[in-house]
Amino acid sequence: MTFTEPPKKRLGQHFLHERGIIDKIVRAVDPQTGDRLVEIGPGQGAITFPLLDVHRELTVIEFDRDLIEPLTQAAQGRGTLHVIHRDVLQVDFTELAAGGMIRLVGNLPYNLSSPILFHALEHAAVVRDMHFMLQKEVVDRMAAGPGTKVYGRLGVMLQAYCRVTPLFDVPPGCFRPPPKVDSAVVRLVPRPRAEIRVEDDAMFSRVVRDAFGQRRKTLRNALSSVCDAAAIEAAGLDPGLRAEQVPVDGFVTLANALARRAPP
Ligand code: SAM
Repeated sequence: MTFTEPPKKRLGQHFLHERGIIDKIVRAVDPQTGDRLVEIGPGQGAITFPLLDVHRELTVIEFDRDLIEPLTQAAQGRGTLHVIHRDVLQVDFTELAAGGMIRLVGNLPYNLSSPILFHALEHAAVVRDMHFMLQKEVVDRMAAGPGTKVYGRLGVMLQAYCRVTPLFDVPPGCFRPPPKVDSAVVRLVPRPRAEIRVEDDAMFSRVVRDAFGQRRKTLRNALSSVCDAAAIEAAGLDPGLRAEQVPVDGFVTLANALARRAPP
């Protein structure tokens, strides 16, 4: 059985065909003996089979029913391919890791990239690292620092928990069909527990969401439903700043202080 179905737009199917880029991804992942690799959205196997050739065992999570049988067949004789036919957002990575650590890889469906990133963050304790192909614009946002136009909620949330390293750009012509935008490959390495300063995930998430919810407003106004100006000042921040001027650490310090406040 071969891959006969045309790419499905609604599933974000843009299949990678450029050998040079595929090799660069495999080299960036650099699988080592004993690693448990999990690929999100294997599609027709552009990254899957080169990884399987060097690593011999791989788990893939694919939502498109039409790809399950061809993937399974194409893996015959190349190694052990565990195929999970499910929406990746329904896959419990902690359960999948079964007490160990997993490494995530994927040329992600771009319409789901943020939900997949947040889903992976929830399971960061069992994820050793992630190598993802995403829209370049999303990778720029993920890695952005304060004071830049693209610095926002996604970058702050990811950088508080992970080291984010953009690796290389990938032009549209490397995919079939070509997407309308440039792409890029990024590496995320979850920080060790001791390096994560966030004390209350829910409070941190709320502060960052509200602060950037109305990014033209000052912290004093954007955060008025969470705290007053005095609390912002007590955390060492100027309430007159806008969210895009505040470093990741500033949000963490503020959220920690608010989380420690005695309930009213
Ligand atoms: N890895 C292949 C490649 O590089 O050519 C395919 C990448 S394509 C951009 C994204 C893949 O994710 C498709 O195979 C698509 O069917 C799959 N996909 C889309 N939504 C998914 C979901 N919710 N869960 C798992 N896979 C999904």
